[in-house]
Amino acid sequence: MHGLMMQQPLLVASLLTHAERHHGEQEIVSRRVEGDIHRYRYRDLAQRARRLANALAGLGIGEGERVGTLAWNGYRHMELYFAVSGSGAVLHTLNPRLHVDQLAYIIDHADDRVIFFDLTFLPLIESVAPRIRSPKVFVAMTDRANMPATPDLPGMLMCYEDLIDGHGDDFTWPLLDENTASSLCYTSGTTGNPKGVLYSHRSTILHTYAAALPDSLNCSARDVILPVVPMFHVNAWGLPYIACMVGAKLVFPGPALDGKSLYELIEAEQVTLSAGVPTVWQGLLRHVAERGSTFTAMRRTIVGGAPCPTAMTTEFQERYHVDVLHAWGMTELSPVGTVCSFKGHHLSLPTQQRYAIQAKQGRAVFGIDMRIVGPDGEALPWDGRAAGDLQVRGPWVTTGYFGCDEASPLSDGWFPTGDVAKIDADGFMQITDRSKDVIKSGGEWISSIDIENVASLHPEVASAVCIAARHPKWDERPLLLIVKQPGSALESAELLDFFDGRVAKWWKPDAVVFIEALPLGATGKVLKNQLRDRFKDYYLMA
Ligand code: AMP
Repeated sequence: MHGLMMQQPLLVASLLTHAERHHGEQEIVSRRVEGDIHRYRYRDLAQRARRLANALAGLGIGEGERVGTLAWNGYRHMELYFAVSGSGAVLHTLNPRLHVDQLAYIIDHADDRVIFFDLTFLPLIESVAPRIRSPKVFVAMTDRANMPATPDLPGMLMCYEDLIDGHGDDFTWPLLDENTASSLCYTSGTTGNPKGVLYSHRSTILHTYAAALPDSLNCSARDVILPVVPMFHVNAWGLPYIACMVGAKLVFPGPALDGKSLYELIEAEQVTLSAGVPTVWQGLLRHVAERGSTFTAMRRTIVGGAPCPTAMTTEFQERYHVDVLHAWGMTELSPVGTVCSFKGHHLSLPTQQRYAIQAKQGRAVFGIDMRIVGPDGEALPWDGRAAGDLQVRGPWVTTGYFGCDEASPLSDGWFPTGDVAKIDADGFMQITDRSKDVIKSGGEWISSIDIENVASLHPEVASAVCIAARHPKWDERPLLLIVKQPGSALESAELLDFFDGRVAKWWKPDAVVFIEALPLGATGKVLKNQLRDRFKDYYLMA
């Protein structure tokens, strides 16, 4: 209609164009896998992303085709974020912590045309390559001097710097439909294989606006942001896009995620805001406490992916004057759903009451609608007591999984999160349990069903159940509960050895408990909840 606002599509490339024009001098600092520190500016990022876009076109990557990455947080990965999505292809970030068989499955399922990888992951690429259906173009994210000597790869191996050196930076980002797919991230499902969540340009931009707000992740041009959360895990919670939108300095840690390396980078670059899972912060806090150091510039840290323990919030805030922003999200939500930012009337509360609020996952950011429902799907009150299945909807919530024939997961238009929560009268949500059968260890998923399936293959196992048991370091670790075949003398060590090579090393349960029988419900289903209640503190007591 004449006189209405312009129909400007919401596109990922516009974030880069904006950053180049308005924050061209702003720095991006990366610790590289080559070991050194690399620094350049948004201007350079934009120019190299355009050259990369030309190179992708040269490789024949068409609109909608998938481009895989197996990479740490770094500037080349950032270039891929914008070059791939910006040119209309789909950036598929692969999680290197997965078992090679799962990676091969995901690469085949997504039908990645090209795979860009950091040198650290060359051995992984060498194991995965023979297992995938069709030969690929593999691009080592390094320069000629650091190129690996003739690795044994089916397909073609190229060098990243050579690839972009061969192209000019004259590239016009195409005016795509904003509902075009922009990126893809797989998440470990409760049953079967991992499932892909496909983001669009529109969902990404709307998520970026909402996540950057002061009561969300609170990012500005004056911030120096260090995303510890990997760029292969839900787009580093959207921080690469947010940084471009607001013009923040970005600091990428590369592969060095231990407390010492992170602390040195935080101090050297005067990081003001960082983001990661509780396990990472434990390592950082231990290092800083041992050295008796402080943070000279860091004022906020976003803790998400798993519950933030109050002891961690207290230590950050009281000892180091770093405010903790507890956040909840999911791969299926791009990921930000709720952030725990105080309301005005909380500020005058006694300290302990404020900590009780910060233990909650927080209130919904604008764009996310949430509710809790009871067993019959009835909406439950927001009284801080009733707990029910948490459901969400919004423009950056998925409707289903990429290339998946299964029925839509939506229930009445709402996405069931698999989390169980209560919500208080102020709208603060707190997760109390999980209905999905998975284990979250150090921020990454382990499928309890996959573990059970492997254990069941052992001839002396009659039945196997794997539960999430609380763990002081990893938040949760798998615990295997086994009923042996009659007369079997099977020992824990032998059963655990059986997992070698069958699952990723870190998926292997830490312990086995042999039990006489499994508790069964009326329909013969194993009552996992009873086992969880009985054994969930096993590692805390060990
Ligand atoms: P992912 O898709 O890997 O990001 O995992 C999302 C899931 O992690 C959520 O559904 C929750 O089960 C869990 N999660 C994420 N953030 C938190 C948090 N702050 N507290 C408790 N659980 C969380």
